Formats: sequence, C-alpha cells, structure tokens
Amino acid sequence: MKTIRFTDGTTVPALGQGTWMMAEDPAHRSDEIAALREGLSLGLNLIDTAEMYADGESERLVGEAIAGVRDDVFLVSKAYPQNASRDRLQDACEASLDRLGTDRLDLYLLHWRGRVPLTETVEAMKRLVASGKILRWGVSNLDTEDMEELVASGGEGCQTDQILYNLTRRGPEYDLIPWLAQHRMPVMAYSPVEQGRLVAHPDLAGMAKERDITPAQLALAWLLARDGVLPIPKAGSIAHVRDNRAALDITLSEAELRRFDTLFPPPRGPEPLAML
Ligand code: NAP
Repeated sequence: MKTIRFTDGTTVPALGQGTWMMAEDPAHRSDEIAALREGLSLGLNLIDTAEMYADGESERLVGEAIAGVRDDVFLVSKAYPQNASRDRLQDACEASLDRLGTDRLDLYLLHWRGRVPLTETVEAMKRLVASGKILRWGVSNLDTEDMEELVASGGEGCQTDQILYNLTRRGPEYDLIPWLAQHRMPVMAYSPVEQGRLVAHPDLAGMAKERDITPAQLALAWLLARDGVLPIPKAGSIAHVRDNRAALDITLSEAELRRFDTLFPPPRGPEPLAML
C-alpha cells in the first residue's frame, strides 16, 4: 500500500478516513461505526476527527469504533482556533482524549487560524508533545503566508497542513503545495470528493465509466497519484469504504492525467486558499 511520510519520518497509509457529519443522526450511528471498522480492517488506519464535529460526538463515535484496537490506529483530531492558546489548548486536548477514550493523539491540528497568535499555539502544541498527550502536531486551512509565519514562529516541527484539495479545488497547487513539499510536509486533502458533489460530475462519471470504476475512485486515484498527498474521504457505509479503498490500486496513465488537466485545469496564478 502507498504510504505518506510526515516531516518526522513517521509513515501512514496514503488514504485515511474522515468523520465530519458522523454522529449527527443516531439512525446512522451503527453504519458509521461499521464503516470505520471496515476501513481499519482494510488497512485505512488513519482516522481524522475534530472537537467541532457533531459537537464532540464524532470523537465519541470514533472512540467506540477504535475500542480495543487503539494501538493500530493513527488518530488525528483538531482544536478550535479559540482553544489553541497557552491557557486553553491543554484542556481542549484532554477533553478530546476523554471523548476518544485514549491517552494520546498521534496528530493534533489547529483547525483554522483565529485570533490566537501562532507563537502561542506553537508553544502550547510543544508543551502537549512534551507531556506525551500528543505525539506530533500540525495545522489546517493555513495559506502560504500563514505557513511562513508559523515556521518563523518556531513552528518548524509542524507535520502537515490539512487543506481543501480535490479536482475542482486545485488552487493550492500554485504556491502552497510546492511550499509544503519544499518543507517536507505532506498535504492532508480534505473533502477529496467535494463532499460527494464530484461523484455526480458528468465528465468524471464519463471517464470512470470508460474504466469501469466509480467517479469517487477516480477522484481519489487522481489525488493518490500526486506526491505527498493524503486524501481523507468520509464514508458512512461499508460499501463506500470498500469503494474508496480500491482507489489505492488504480494506476492512471499519462493520457488520463493530461485529460484531467483539460477537464479540471490547474491554477494559472495565486488564489486564496478556499475552505469549507
Ligand atoms: P468528502 O469526503 O469529499 O465527501 C463525503 C461525502 O461523499 C459523503 O456524503 C459520502 O457519502 C460521499 N462518499 C464517500 N465515498 C463515496 C463513494 N465511494 N461513493 C459515493 N459517495 C461517497 O467530504 P468531507 O467529509 O467534507 O471531507 C472528508 C473529511 O475531511 C471530513 O470528514 C473531515 O474529517 C475532513 N475535513 C476537514 C476540514 C478542515 O477544515 N480541516 C473540512 C472539511 C472536512 P456517505 O456518507 O453516504 O458514505
């Protein structure tokens, strides 16, 4: 299985599992837990969650899904910007750990930039690493200038920037993704199938049909074909998890990659980082 290397040398499978919108509806809970467990059994051991998702209930659901297999999971959660301060980050992290039923996170992210100075967030993250509550840290939704500032604020230990990146959101290719590559930080690509909208895209559907695969698989295969990119699709059913896992086995031809560039053109100049 293709793997992705974080800045500190740790490797994880190149395809992870997202959890936004999970635990919103009790009627879907058992399917969502079954989907995450299926993903783990298929080797998709990175699970991404956040204190924000379902107001903490997504973390609780993940905790239930990984009970008994915690050590096999690479667990990622995120802190609200207002909690990413010297005074509040430790409490936010401990509350996440409690909901997740674990004593450590493998990766803890600043969800997006707020009013707390980055120097403070970096300091608070480093303290959590020192105490063993998190093994590494990173950020999300930070554009190139913010990343420059982060590194200048003592944040060289940042492991990743989790950003909106998919076939219809190629803006970061112009400057942010090259910057991250230069700093050996992989990209965690969120909303890799554009929250499901790409599945219905007629051009993508046409290309997928020619190969007898699904549009979701094709959208993921395109991301997986790129260096240092780790897509984290959210799948609420076993069928979707299996579908997504199979994207790791798809190889795209040069001709297909050129066709993607025609149908979903790369950026021609800088674009502000979009977020959902
Ligand atoms: P996404 O993964 O692009 O799309 C999820 C949607 O696609 C769901 O409706 C899902 O349906 C559907 N889907 C998944 N696999 C499919 C398949 N094989 N065939 C057909 N439909 C499929 O969007 P996302 O949830 O926004 O992003 C993924 C993860 O990234 C999130 O869950 C979260 O962990 C993270 N995220 C982070 C941020 C951030 O600010 N850092 C923002 C957004 C998302 P079912 O549920 O029915 O399977």
